[in-house]
Amino acid sequence: MKAIVLYKHGGPEVLQYVDRDTPQPGPGEVLVEIKAAALNRLDIWVRDGWPGIELEYPHILGADGAGVVMKIGIGVSGLQVGDRVAINPNISCGRCLHCAAGRDNLCDSWRLLGESMPGTFAQHIVLPERNLLVLPDVVSFEMAAAASLVYLTAWHSLITRGGLRAGESVVVVGAGGGVNSACIQIAHLSGAKVYVVSDEARKLAKAEALGADVLIDRSKEDWSHSIFNLTERRGADVVVDNVGAATFFRSIRAARKGGRILTVGNTSGPKLEIDNRYLFGKHLTIIGSTMGSHTDFVDVMTLVFEGMLTPVIDSEFPLSEARAAQCKMASGDFFGKILLIT
Ligand code: ZN
Repeated sequence: MKAIVLYKHGGPEVLQYVDRDTPQPGPGEVLVEIKAAALNRLDIWVRDGWPGIELEYPHILGADGAGVVMKIGIGVSGLQVGDRVAINPNISCGRCLHCAAGRDNLCDSWRLLGESMPGTFAQHIVLPERNLLVLPDVVSFEMAAAASLVYLTAWHSLITRGGLRAGESVVVVGAGGGVNSACIQIAHLSGAKVYVVSDEARKLAKAEALGADVLIDRSKEDWSHSIFNLTERRGADVVVDNVGAATFFRSIRAARKGGRILTVGNTSGPKLEIDNRYLFGKHLTIIGSTMGSHTDFVDVMTLVFEGMLTPVIDSEFPLSEARAAQCKMASGDFFGKILLIT
């Protein structure tokens, strides 16, 4: 099979399009022919490397994907050859106490496709049966691949951890990335009033089309001050900050007394400056999470399958052009998901 692999960390030049042996499914596992995969910033971080990361080379990148079941292992009972499937990229053991309690995202041996095991930037992948969800005929492979990681992440953060309720105000800091566009849609669908902060008018216009109620251009105004004024000097119930270092201070200021700040990432850098007086003085709660449970995956993908949530697709590249696709993501000049078609 063809795959995008790396033999060492580095820039886009370390990505190689090569032939690899097609893996074979063991007991409880399924061989899937990938039809569409989607990029995440995570792939670039894995490619670049970080202190302590240990990859088994050659490493195949990619967390998101959808495809067709080609072969089933012994003991697989819920899937058949030919089934069209979406992939949950979170791999859990199914046996530890967290898994037994349905909190498989906290599994003692949790792993993620493309990060701590071979990923979806390949023509084939072997996965546990429980990580696959059969796609309705009306849902394309592209839609399923574009949805998986970002909708799971956004749903778990906003709904499961954040406890978002109808009528609440939500500020989404940043608009271009996949998780933030999913957060805008989920918050809108939940009946919240959605404020979106960006420094690009073009991205704000797209955010409005996804359900944003109030658009704030942070290149023209102090957005935390604007939120304060727009909420009758109260602040927002929930602030979604996946930008990190560049914005977290203002996110803390924009939250109301008793408000929640949700974070699943830090595209501008991981070290945050926090003025603790705001934390205790305003009774703030900072809620961190990453990915989500399989229950979250089924819940949010059901809404995608029903057309209640529609992934935004920016562009498509052939698998062989993964370098160009990653360069586009690194440039920041995109809105929604960048796909690789195999
Ligand atoms: Zn487990």
